[in-house]
Amino acid sequence: MAEVLVLVELNPAGEGVRKTTLEALTAARALGEPAAVVAGAPGAAAGARAQLAEYGAVKVYVAESDDIENYLVAPKAEVLAGLVADKQPAAVVIPSSPEGKEVAARLAVKTGSGLLTDVTEVTAEGTATQVAFAGQTIVHSKVTAGTPIYTLRGNSVTPTPAPAAAAEETVAVQLSDAARATKVVDRVVEQKSSRPELTEAAIVVSGGRGVASAENFAIIEGLADSLGAAVGASRAAVDSGYYPHTFQVGQTGKTVSPQLYIAVGISGAIQHRAGMQTSKTIVAVNKDPEAPIFELADFGIVGDLNTVVPAATEAITAR
Ligand code: FAD
Repeated sequence: MAEVLVLVELNPAGEGVRKTTLEALTAARALGEPAAVVAGAPGAAAGARAQLAEYGAVKVYVAESDDIENYLVAPKAEVLAGLVADKQPAAVVIPSSPEGKEVAARLAVKTGSGLLTDVTEVTAEGTATQVAFAGQTIVHSKVTAGTPIYTLRGNSVTPTPAPAAAAEETVAVQLSDAARATKVVDRVVEQKSSRPELTEAAIVVSGGRGVASAENFAIIEGLADSLGAAVGASRAAVDSGYYPHTFQVGQTGKTVSPQLYIAVGISGAIQHRAGMQTSKTIVAVNKDPEAPIFELADFGIVGDLNTVVPAATEAITAR
């Protein structure tokens, strides 16, 4: 069976791999034998090995060099392009993060290959599913040139273990001058939140303009913490300064697809739906019974969020 290269996204501080990598390894099994590619600083692969073996990596290509960390995304694209030329894989699967999509685009250009981004599923025949036009159209596509490259949307595949050998092979890192064209000069490590990452969380609680102030977002955070959930926000909420822009869900924000999405004080505009409508179960809290979010919601509560949300938090915490 042909290899399928899977670009590994590592957790910061050597704490294993991100869930997106386990999803990509799971999806890649439909296309062939997953071969994980770890491209990072010296020692990067050490913390990843056990999970890669558990989730089906038949091989692990290890490309470790300070240069990979020092020059943004271009080195990762070059490592992958070298492996595509050497190993002739059946396909390449990359998590659909902002970095993953940039690596994928560069790889497609370097290898003259077709690229399908944000896919939610891929079949053994290589047919990918994409959700387009704010979720109103489902598109099935195939790559017709080069080595098919897919970026996999987070939370669209359930990671399932499939123990494999994870045989390691070291890959020499030799960067071109072009890959050194943009250098990292400084890194500020964000303070780590105890909440899960928005795009990876199983539960997301999002607040909208109805929350009415930055201070009042504490009730959204309270519900999220009682459920072990991530916090999201509508664009109206972030534009009003209630919550940071990095937490925006929607067409121009992040796309989430959790098991449970709770929309609080959010009307359900098409641009917001674009980022959350593939959530498995949607709950809406809104004081307006005509709010469009109720058309999409599996469960709706008509009421004032200032009463409903604290009561829900209290009931959940009491369990
Ligand atoms: P509103 O539409 O003002 O809704 C607030 C809701 O809160 C209302 O339904 C109201 O009934 C309810 N409410 C008020 N008070 C209470 C209360 N006390 N209790 C319960 N309910 C209450 N939006 C996004 O979210 N994400 C995007 O990525 C995004 N991208 C965009 C891109 C473009 C190009 C454009 C044009 C728009 C984009 N928007 C996006 C904006 C989008 O069109 C909406 O304006 C926005 O989603 C509205 O946010 P909201 O639902 O929080 O606010």
